[in-house]
Amino acid sequence: MEEMPKEDLQKMQYKLLKSLVYRLYSFSPFYHERMKEEKVHPDDIRALADVKKLPFMFKRDLRDNYPDKIFTATQDDLVRYHVSSGTTGKPTVVGYTQNDLNLWTTSLARGLTSIGLGRGDVIQVSYGYGLFTGGLGMHYGAERIGATVLPTSVGNTERQIELMQDLGATAIACTPSYLLHIGEVAAKMGVDIKKDTKLRAGILGAEPWTDGMRTRIQDWLGIKAYDIYGTSELSGPMYTECTEQKGFHIWSDIALAEIIDPKTGEQLEPGEKGELTVTMLQKEALPMIRFRIGDITVIDDEQCPCGRTHPRIQRIQGRVDDMLIIRGINVFPSQVEYALMAIPEVGQHFQIIVERKGALDDMLVQVELNRESFSDKITDLMQTQQKVEHRMRNSLNVNVDVELVEPGSLPRFEGKSKKVIDKRSL
Ligand SMILES: [Zn+2]
Repeated sequence: MEEMPKEDLQKMQYKLLKSLVYRLYSFSPFYHERMKEEKVHPDDIRALADVKKLPFMFKRDLRDNYPDKIFTATQDDLVRYHVSSGTTGKPTVVGYTQNDLNLWTTSLARGLTSIGLGRGDVIQVSYGYGLFTGGLGMHYGAERIGATVLPTSVGNTERQIELMQDLGATAIACTPSYLLHIGEVAAKMGVDIKKDTKLRAGILGAEPWTDGMRTRIQDWLGIKAYDIYGTSELSGPMYTECTEQKGFHIWSDIALAEIIDPKTGEQLEPGEKGELTVTMLQKEALPMIRFRIGDITVIDDEQCPCGRTHPRIQRIQGRVDDMLIIRGINVFPSQVEYALMAIPEVGQHFQIIVERKGALDDMLVQVELNRESFSDKITDLMQTQQKVEHRMRNSLNVNVDVELVEPGSLPRFEGKSKKVIDKRSL
């Protein structure tokens, strides 16, 4: 399946799409109405490219139909619920049939295999277990490939480090910010992850991070750091990078990915940057058609050197709703991270604070310094500050105030980190 010729994959996608659309049009009042509004009938889907005739779905469709009004399976057929807490208003609920769980697990099993994990590995799952999809999703994927799961979940970091050593964890799955936290706590305990543990891979996701951060994590902890992607509406974490570390393979038999212009909704070509939109081709309980995830990225349709023919999605560069507009210029927090990680004096943590003073937006970036670079000499600090401000201005095209802060002084997060404080919306 993973190395099937592209043309055959696309033929398979077309067949799956066609039967999905017929099923939803016939049996789901929600999708039936949506398609009627858009004046599209299942007979209009005559080629894979016709997917662009279908209406979009948004996260609000799940919220508006809380908890399960658009499910296409009855509760008898559901074997699990996951619930994601909305930042505003109602949470969203996702239901899974046994087949839905099997596909999710298969997808992750392929991903974990593609980074060289399998029987004999001990995978420490430090994503939250429970209503959040990260922990349980990774858990079943890791068991499927014959690895031994160490289900530590989030928190109690010192114990996590002891267990990592005692049970010989070879891989860890968590958010990149939590792995940084683990590295710092380990150092305080006198444990060098590089020398004192068997850890060789990190499967890091649930928040956007950059290649600069990857290099730092790899050099510091002596592991390979892989990106993983997914969102609860589509099942949970589902797609990982392969050993090439150049974007995650999105399995064509499971999902049809498109990149669209977030403003016009027009489909963009491979290589063009836009909003990731996904159709889940085989889901039973909550199929999603052209779901607008809100993540900004690029599809890479070139053949991957690993031999897998399924397209790759480049690392997420930001979210449509994360995009800050500072004095008319689009700024993504990932750009700030990218610029900062190229400066050796800078540590791993930063925070962006946006304020409106009068009619103008002001952006302040608080940056932790490395312990080695933190100096009492004002002149040294001023030099570093100028260097950081200069780098920011060059890469963001907007003036940014920089405040250098002591190592360890910015807030740490065990789950998703909060890098932006936008006081304009308060
Ligand atoms: Zn590959």
